[in-house]
Amino acid sequence: MEALVEGTIAQRVQSVLAKIRSAEERAGRPAGSVRLVAATKTVTVDRMKEGVSAGLTILGENRVQEALPKVAAFSEAPVRWHFLGQLQRRKVRSVIGLFEMIHSVDSVELAQEIDRRAGEAGCHQSVLIEVNIGNEPTKAGFSPADVTQAVTTMAEFSHIGIRGLMTIPPQTDHPDSVRPYFRKLHELAQQIAACRIPSVKMDELSMGMSNDYEVAIEEGATLVRVGTAIFGTRHV
Ligand SMILES: *Cc1c(COP(=O)(O)O)cnc(C)c1O
Repeated sequence: MEALVEGTIAQRVQSVLAKIRSAEERAGRPAGSVRLVAATKTVTVDRMKEGVSAGLTILGENRVQEALPKVAAFSEAPVRWHFLGQLQRRKVRSVIGLFEMIHSVDSVELAQEIDRRAGEAGCHQSVLIEVNIGNEPTKAGFSPADVTQAVTTMAEFSHIGIRGLMTIPPQTDHPDSVRPYFRKLHELAQQIAACRIPSVKMDELSMGMSNDYEVAIEEGATLVRVGTAIFGTRHV
């Protein structure tokens, strides 16, 4: 039974990596231009280790409390960590220095706190700016109309590096109906890049999850965040 589960995770990692490569090819993008972030919320360390043995190199967590012991458990492993979830300002201090990228900066106040804590720690923190691309009332992120101004403001913070945009688009029945949202995020990133805001880079686009990462790659994603397609359905 255990062996079956182990085989399954390894096979799924290989399958997702292969699909990423074909999507890169279809889109005429260079091999390796898209990186897989395994979304590991609720996944046990043992199952994550199976995934790492099978080729995962970036692990993405959503909650600080869950992430910290996991990061410690992998201290000897060659993995990088990304933070994907909503980050509370009072928890910023405990994540500084642990995550290669924070995908989910959804307010100027959060960016300011990351800047302050990174400065205290003598660190520089790479971040992505979360955009509520469907203007959904319940969803975190800057509205597309506000994000350029917000990026201009946040560009002043010297201990963070803005590297691009991230989005979680509205849920749709079919992966293809999400395509316009991915396209819109890509266009938004190009518009911001064209403003040439000092110290701001727009070379990362974090979009695409288990159901739609291939479409996201066709529309320019550089980071895809995949959980269920690797680890199975979450029960918690
Ligand atoms: C859970 C999660 C994912 C992965 O979702 P799946 O549908 O399981 O692939 C991606 N991004 C974020 C921000 C998440 O919280």
